[in-house]
Amino acid sequence: MTADIALWKSDEGLSDDERTIVKRSLGFFSTADSLVANNLVLAIYRLITNPECRQYLLRQAFEEAIHTHAYQYCIESLGMDEGEIFNMYHEVPTVAEKASWALKYTKEINDPNFTTGTVETDKTLLKNLIAYYCVLEGIFFYCGFTQILSMGRRNKMTGTSEQFQYILRDESMHVNFGIDVINQIKLENPHLWDEEMQSAARGMILEGTALEVSYARDTMPRGVLGMNANMMEEYLQFIANRRLAQIGLTEQYPGVKNPFPWMSEIMDLKKEKNFFETRVTDYQTGGALTWD
Ligand code: FE
Repeated sequence: MTADIALWKSDEGLSDDERTIVKRSLGFFSTADSLVANNLVLAIYRLITNPECRQYLLRQAFEEAIHTHAYQYCIESLGMDEGEIFNMYHEVPTVAEKASWALKYTKEINDPNFTTGTVETDKTLLKNLIAYYCVLEGIFFYCGFTQILSMGRRNKMTGTSEQFQYILRDESMHVNFGIDVINQIKLENPHLWDEEMQSAARGMILEGTALEVSYARDTMPRGVLGMNANMMEEYLQFIANRRLAQIGLTEQYPGVKNPFPWMSEIMDLKKEKNFFETRVTDYQTGGALTWD
């Protein structure tokens, strides 16, 4: 974080718009990953009883804790006003709306008396999975991730950006897992995937996309980091199309293209390969240890 701290504390090097992006991202993500963790541990884990899925859910919960810690580490290292950052989820409307949109899907299944087994309650669980995996982790993370990674590509806040890159790699796994679970539930219970459920799922993804577009407009009133809100809107529609298709629904934004192809490169990158190039010092320290 040394270079990040120097840049953050200097008067030059970062514009006000870039500073807003760093603060909003840390404010939103530090809250969002704990919402995901709570939903996993307090709601989903009890209801998904398949042992392999439960093993993955434990891994995911562990990763969410590491992510929250990583954000906290950035916030502390940069010496940010923690009250401002941690209160964004109720003080900044575009952040608050995303958090409360997700929370309403935890509410019902979080009740200890809630059980699956009827068409209605099974659909409630399915909606929770769509809300968290397809929308929260699958759409709500993408504006902030793109902004921070774009900053890193421009050699600014590279320590923060590198941590976001590791986190994004985990998050794409979480989304893939969630989509597999949703599709498996559909396969085993085709009666749940009726017209009403499909239209609810479609509606949730469109609502989520609209909230993320508002967040993009709010965090990018002007062009910044080689992007602007209109490009981000197209990118989010591109992501939304993919989420819809992944759960077997028709794409709702025909003809949109990916304005940030470099994001796919970063996500598909074998990070381990770069790891050895960027963290050689750790191994030098290891090599200096004596064992007798
Ligand atoms: Fe996650």
